[in-house]
Amino acid sequence: MPIPRLYVTDAIVLSRFDYGEADRIMTLFTPAHGKFKAIAKGVRRPTSRLGGALEPLAELKVALARGRTFDVVTQVEVTHAWLRLRDSLESAATAWYLAELADRSIEERHETEGLYALLRRAYELLDAGMDSGRVARWYEMNLADELGVRPEVDRCVECDRMLEADEQFRWVPPLGGVLCSRCPGPPVERAGITVDAVKLLKAYQRMDVEALAGLRLPPAVEREVEEAMRAFLRVSLERDARSLEFLDEVRRR
Ligand SMILES: [Zn+2]
Repeated sequence: MPIPRLYVTDAIVLSRFDYGEADRIMTLFTPAHGKFKAIAKGVRRPTSRLGGALEPLAELKVALARGRTFDVVTQVEVTHAWLRLRDSLESAATAWYLAELADRSIEERHETEGLYALLRRAYELLDAGMDSGRVARWYEMNLADELGVRPEVDRCVECDRMLEADEQFRWVPPLGGVLCSRCPGPPVERAGITVDAVKLLKAYQRMDVEALAGLRLPPAVEREVEEAMRAFLRVSLERDARSLEFLDEVRRR
């Protein structure tokens, strides 16, 4: 169905840059039209009606007019501000990281209802104060699902045998998940993964997010799963997210 000349959509701003004298070009993420670039004219002038509302890390209702190069933002209203999400630098940096992952995963003008709902829910959880690492892992695992690259953590990726708790596992993202001790696999460095980390990866696939929020876990296992998911997405999305550097910096402080 063609997009009408004037239309209204829910949107989350994924990124933006200044353009010309007072304009700004925004990458909007929407449920029905995927992501696309739109221009907000005069938005950097203090008198702009759009200025304050057209911000990232919030859910907006945006009215647009079809344009030749970019659609033009005509009206904006903030529907969810998620103010508490911005209170901590770590949760804000995580929110930027999740937005970048979404940006890298979707195509322009493609319906992305599932991915939109996922990002929106992750922002709600950060806003509600859930541990930002847990939100990020939950989001990464569901993102992989949405992209059709769910990591295999139950069976060996090579021989398809059910994994047993008392064997040695390796985590091999280019093969799609866990490799058993009997299969040779490719020569990889530092691929070992503990049974506890494999269990936690399973939990991220099976448990609902409220249950995940309540888990008591040794930090070393959480770090292992973080590294594992990072390596997995690096392979799936073909490189590291740029915003990870900032997130790591924030957490080191
Ligand atoms: Zn095997």
